[in-house]
Amino acid sequence: MHRERSIWLWLCVPPLVASVPGALVAWWSAGGVAAAICVVVSCLGGGALAAWEARRHARICEARLQRPELRINGTQGTGLYAGLLEEAFGIFERLEAENRRAREERTTLEARGQVRQREAQRLEAALGCVEQPVLIVDPRGQVCYRNAAAAPLVTGAPDGGAVELVPALVELLHETLTRNVATNRRAAEFEHEPAGGPRAWEATAVTIQDPQDRRVLGAVAVLRDIAEQKQANTRHAEFVSSVCHELKTPMAGIRAYAEMLRDGDFNEPAEQQEVYGFIEQQVDRLTRLVDNMLNLARIESGVIEVKREDCELNDILRKALDTIAPTASEKSIRLVPELSELYLPVHPDRDLLGQAIINLLSNAVKYTPAGGEVRLRSRMDEGRAVIEVRDTGMGIPAESLPRIFDRFYRVPRNNQAAAGTGLGLALVHYIVTELHGGAIAVDSALDEGTCFTLTLPLGHRNGQRRKPAARLCAV
Ligand code: ADP
Repeated sequence: MHRERSIWLWLCVPPLVASVPGALVAWWSAGGVAAAICVVVSCLGGGALAAWEARRHARICEARLQRPELRINGTQGTGLYAGLLEEAFGIFERLEAENRRAREERTTLEARGQVRQREAQRLEAALGCVEQPVLIVDPRGQVCYRNAAAAPLVTGAPDGGAVELVPALVELLHETLTRNVATNRRAAEFEHEPAGGPRAWEATAVTIQDPQDRRVLGAVAVLRDIAEQKQANTRHAEFVSSVCHELKTPMAGIRAYAEMLRDGDFNEPAEQQEVYGFIEQQVDRLTRLVDNMLNLARIESGVIEVKREDCELNDILRKALDTIAPTASEKSIRLVPELSELYLPVHPDRDLLGQAIINLLSNAVKYTPAGGEVRLRSRMDEGRAVIEVRDTGMGIPAESLPRIFDRFYRVPRNNQAAAGTGLGLALVHYIVTELHGGAIAVDSALDEGTCFTLTLPLGHRNGQRRKPAARLCAV
């Protein structure tokens, strides 16, 4: 509306203004008002005609600019505005081309963004599946990502607010981020006590750098739970120290007797025979110890292949009874079999399970005074095979029961009753629980007797494969 008014104004005002002197000249030369009016009207008419035409051209231009399909006619019929319109068309085309390019770029960026997002999701899901804790921090040390396994190492808002790390990790990451010159990798071990109990960790932190300008973008820390490894190390050290201790005693005895013999402390042949007897006893003890340790190590490491097969439990028990019978009768101990009348199908390694039963029977005979009784019982209970080795011997004090299956553990009170290495029950425990998926329990009363109860899975497994030796190596 405003534009149209200005067209009319610009094209009608000049003829109107110009008509005034024209009219004056006509009035003065013709000497009449009519001539003057004629001049004004013709001037105004011409102006109006030009304005009307200009307005029509302007509308055509407007329509062509607004509706691209009309641009097919180009600048035709736009009169005075043809030049302007052509320039406007040029600008339009440039803008449209830029707009198109921008749209294409936006589509490409959006597609790339989606790909990146999917990659990030995949990466996050993969890190979420990693069992080791993984943490990523920004250059200021603020946690920007942690996987589920890292939960025990952080405290803070679960709603995504600020997260705080355990102090040892903060220190490690700070060092990694700040002292990045010599090496971008750092490792540390630390202990931390979350709600679930104390845990030991080994953490490795590495800086993340921009591949182009080597700018530090943050750091990633990967942790490993080393509690078990530490325990294993402690157990190993304890084991070595126990072995050394156990070996030292008989060796010291042998050495002392050998020195006495060399120094001529025993002149009488009878005395010498006695000393030789002592030395022999110590050598026997050493041999027993080494044999037992070797057995345990071989079975645990899988050197001895476990050959499980379908068989009847009472068969194995009878053979064990036969093996131990001479020792029992030597000591006047009554060996009482109380075997189930049912067929008890099991799937054990005959030799190893037999060895476990022999160890238990042998202990029962060893730690039962002459005239006592050792009873071997088998039965079926709630779908499992149960074996009991019960004696009427010296019993085990309550405080020793929790340690009875430990390697080298010997009940101090019973030490004098028989020679031993403290490895027999450890072997039994391993054979029953680890190799046969069974359980073992002990019940004892001082000077009344002891009962070891073994429980084994019942049933044959015909057609099933043997347990591969390799699996045992993992123990
Ligand atoms: P050892 O070679 O000393 O017999 P074991 O591992 O077989 O080693 O047994 C560990 C300890 O448990 C023995 O030293 C003994 O004190 C105690 N023990 C085992 N069985 C019995 C039992 N039936 N009665 C009393 N004490 C037993």
